[in-house]
Amino acid sequence: MAGPDSEFDLIQRYFDAPAAALAPGAGVRLGIGDDAALLALRDNHELVVSVDTLVEGTHFFPDHPAASLGHKALASNLSDLAAMGAEPLGALLSLTLPRVDHDWLAAFSQGFLDLAGAAAVPLVGGDTTRGPLAVSVTVLGQVPAGQALRRAGARPGDRLVVSGALGGAAFGLAHETRRRAAGTAAVDKEPACERLFWPRVRLELGRMLRKRARAVIDISDGLLADLGHLCAASGCGARIDWPAVPLDPLLAQAPPAQAEAAALGGGEDYELLFALPPGESLDLLAFGVDAPLTVIGECTEAAGVVVVDAAGQPLDVARAGHDHFAGGEAHEVEPMPTGQGTDVKAKD
Ligand code: ADP
Ligand code: MG
Repeated sequence: MAGPDSEFDLIQRYFDAPAAALAPGAGVRLGIGDDAALLALRDNHELVVSVDTLVEGTHFFPDHPAASLGHKALASNLSDLAAMGAEPLGALLSLTLPRVDHDWLAAFSQGFLDLAGAAAVPLVGGDTTRGPLAVSVTVLGQVPAGQALRRAGARPGDRLVVSGALGGAAFGLAHETRRRAAGTAAVDKEPACERLFWPRVRLELGRMLRKRARAVIDISDGLLADLGHLCAASGCGARIDWPAVPLDPLLAQAPPAQAEAAALGGGEDYELLFALPPGESLDLLAFGVDAPLTVIGECTEAAGVVVVDAAGQPLDVARAGHDHFAGGEAHEVEPMPTGQGTDVKAKD
């Protein structure tokens, strides 16, 4: 069937833009349109693969702006490639749609393809089915054999470094939650929700970390949770110096407890957290990337993660209430004050 709203027509209309299917220079031998795509790996490279699914009501609100959803679905997956030090090869998009809504599809595909174009990630295929709204993206990347960055590998004495600033997505989520309670419509270009709706991806930094960092993870579930994963995989502990943690400018006016909750516990910032061995120069690394890099603590012999204040006293991180923020935007969160006059960009 090839009617106006057939699967074939929708793919052609929204996803098979030549620019999306074949970015110049990419290793795509065959993109959308056949039974499968064909990609060429460079010599002596390994394939890096990851998939993430977003389900309406679980991972995003039903009125989540469609363009932002397209962007986020790809961004969260690319962030996993970044955290492995991989260079993207292509993406697959599996869409489950309750109905054909052309306005929604136009906005969604634009959000997805704009990021795909900016990050030079060709959309090489996918699947389109009917059912409750869900978006699943698979990303494919490559990395020189043996050089993939993993969560394991950090050692006591390594500095813990984070890119960008933290807590902006949690701030946006709290703002969104209040907006919904008030019953007003979502605005997808609102500064308060910029970090939540338009996360940036640290692909270039990830590649720069190859052969430099000992362990890397992307902060999708919150700093403490993801640091916990890195420490568990590496078999070490960590100390975080709270005053060193770079806070998103949106949190400048937030009460300390809420800033802590957002920066330590808030998910979806998609920054990279890595362990840098003593011999590696942070200045040299920082010189080569367009992301701010901040040392926020170090890996320790003693198991467990502690967060200390300026006097070296342990902070009560339970106060950070990171459970409130863990696990995606459909969870309940405490409202935080709106940022006034903030000026944050989706990409830097
Ligand atoms: P098949 O029945 O062989 O799986 P499909 O009709 O599902 O083929 O898909 C036809 C082509 O369109 C394939 O190349 C597939 O990868 C691509 N495709 C399907 N849905 C999407 C989508 N949402 N985005 C991008 N490509 C898609
Ligand atoms: Mg199919």
